[in-house]
Amino acid sequence: MSATTPAIVAKQVHKAFGSTHVLKGVDLTVMPGTVTVILGPSGSGKSTFLRLINQLETLTGGTIEVEGELIGYAWVERGGRRVLQTLDDKQVAAQRAKLGMVFQKFNLFPHMTALENVMEAPVHVRHMNKSEARALALAELERVGLADRADYYPMELSGGQQQRVAIARALAMKPDIMLFDEPTSALDPELVGEVLAVMQSLAKDGMTMVCVTHEIGFAREVADQVVFMADGVVVEQGGPEIIDAPREPRFKDFLQHVL
Ligand code: ADP
Ligand code: MG
Repeated sequence: MSATTPAIVAKQVHKAFGSTHVLKGVDLTVMPGTVTVILGPSGSGKSTFLRLINQLETLTGGTIEVEGELIGYAWVERGGRRVLQTLDDKQVAAQRAKLGMVFQKFNLFPHMTALENVMEAPVHVRHMNKSEARALALAELERVGLADRADYYPMELSGGQQQRVAIARALAMKPDIMLFDEPTSALDPELVGEVLAVMQSLAKDGMTMVCVTHEIGFAREVADQVVFMADGVVVEQGGPEIIDAPREPRFKDFLQHVL
C-alpha cells in the first residue's frame, strides 16, 4: 500500500432510516497519519457517519473506501447500473479490523479487570495465547498511562480512567485507524483533559484518527482537518484555522454556542 493511499475516502454518502434522511451526500478524505475532527450540532449525523465507516450501519447511497478498498454494502456503478456490492462476513470482519472505535459510553466488562478487558479481544477474536495477550495489554495500558491500574475493576476507576482503558482495548487490536465518537462527552469536566491528552499522544505517534468531539481546544491544537457537519451535510471544511475564521453562518453560530 503506497503512503499516499487515503485511509478513508467517503463519496456522496447517504443514509436514511426509513423516511428520515440523515446523511445527504457527505464527502470526506482522510489521509494516513492525520487527525480529522468532526464538529457539529447534535442530530447532524456525525455518529451515523462513523458507524457507516465501521460498518455498524449500511449505506443508503454513495461509497466508502478504507485503505483503498470499498467497504461491504457499497453502492457501485457497474455497466451503467447502480448495484449493491456485498462482501461476506469474513471480508467485512477483515475490513473492520483496520478500525478501532471508542464511544461516548465505554462499556467495559464490569466483572473483568482493566487488564482482562484489554486482553479480551486479542484472546477471543485474534486467538492470541494468554501470556502474549497479557504482555500486549499491559503495553497498551502503559500507553494510556494506566499500567498501575491493570488489576483494578472498572467500578474502581474514574470515568476518565475507564475511557482510557477503552482506548487501550481498541489499540490492542492494532487498528490502522481510530474512530472516536464524543469520547469525553460523558465525563465530568475535570476528567476530560486526561482522555484528550491520551488522544493527543496517539496523534503525535502518527495514528490516523477521526474524532467527533465538542472539544474545540483539542480541534485547534491537534486536528489537521476540521469538518463542520450540520443536517447531514458538510457545511465547512478546512485546516484548524477555520475555527478562528469560520465563513459559513451556521458554523459561526455553532462556534459561538460551544466556545
Ligand atoms: P449526531 O451524532 O450528529 O448527534 P446521529 O448520527 O446520532 O447524530 O443522528 C442523526 C439523526 O439520525 C438523528 O435524527 C437520529 O435520531 C437519527 N438516527 C440515528 N440512528 C438512527 C436509527 N438507528 N434509527 C432511526 N433514526 C436514527
Ligand atoms: Mg453522536
